[in-house]
Amino acid sequence: MTVETSAAAPEPAVAAAIPAVELRGVGKIFAAGAVTALEDVSLRVAAGEFVSLIGPSGCGKSTLLRIVADLEQPSSGTVVVHGKTARQARLDQEYGIAFQQAGLLDWRTVQENVELPLQLHGVRRAERRSRSAELLEITGLTEFARRFPAELSGGMQQRVAIARALARKPPLLLMDEPFGALDEMTRERMQGELLRIAEETGAAVVFVTHSIPEAVFLSDRVVVMTPRPGRITEVLATGGRDRHSDDEVRSSEEFFTAVAAVRAALHEGHGGAGTPKSAAGRDMR
Ligand code: ADP
Ligand code: MG
Repeated sequence: MTVETSAAAPEPAVAAAIPAVELRGVGKIFAAGAVTALEDVSLRVAAGEFVSLIGPSGCGKSTLLRIVADLEQPSSGTVVVHGKTARQARLDQEYGIAFQQAGLLDWRTVQENVELPLQLHGVRRAERRSRSAELLEITGLTEFARRFPAELSGGMQQRVAIARALARKPPLLLMDEPFGALDEMTRERMQGELLRIAEETGAAVVFVTHSIPEAVFLSDRVVVMTPRPGRITEVLATGGRDRHSDDEVRSSEEFFTAVAAVRAALHEGHGGAGTPKSAAGRDMR
């Protein structure tokens, strides 16, 4: 297509700079035309970046994630996932998905669940074994490889789902309230583990949540959405991933400032007149 020819093939560094997700003017109107779920959503998620989508129920978070995953078609706008159309990215398994329910197969062991995407892709047994062993190690499930999902706690099941989502080393993880069903303690532990896993694998993450502290703890940037029509009202840089212990982060002043900033942005989006704009926390890098 292009008339300019380049002598050298793209450097790996250039490839690494391809955004994980690029949305331009994405809109979604559901069938009867009655519900405008999303309107003019533009967002770029860099390779390796952790971005959370936050907003009240019904603002289109799941719809947006499903559009990125090519499980839903946008009514307008364009979607590029790792330099490809959403459809091609799905076919090439450029992303892994984890939703609120772990969605494991009860009759397969932990290890067999993790290996499922590899098996479906025709990866040989020996390679499947070494990859699943690696993932079970990362997610702290090595001892449970031969157990069945019903024998695990909710948090462990969710870790199996994350390991499975990572099996094919996708450059992108799409997660829709994956810790919603967990108790608070388990949830905080899982958040820490997810961060470590994402860092270790270099995967970008698009994470849907309606928990403000969860969004702030995990993300480089928090995308604030409002309902009817679902749009992005604000994007806050909350990252400070050069962090100390998880507990230190959660009790730090920066953390509280960022939580307050996200809360204020959410209230503004609701039309909450008079909510003071917090300048602090808008960009805390
Ligand atoms: P969220 O995940 O933020 O709670 P959703 O993306 O699930 O929001 O839904 C956004 C809006 O789109 C809601 O008003 C919802 O009722 C509507 N919606 C979602 N899926 C469908 C569908 N398949 N058909 C019609 N309306 C839908
Ligand atoms: Mg949802």
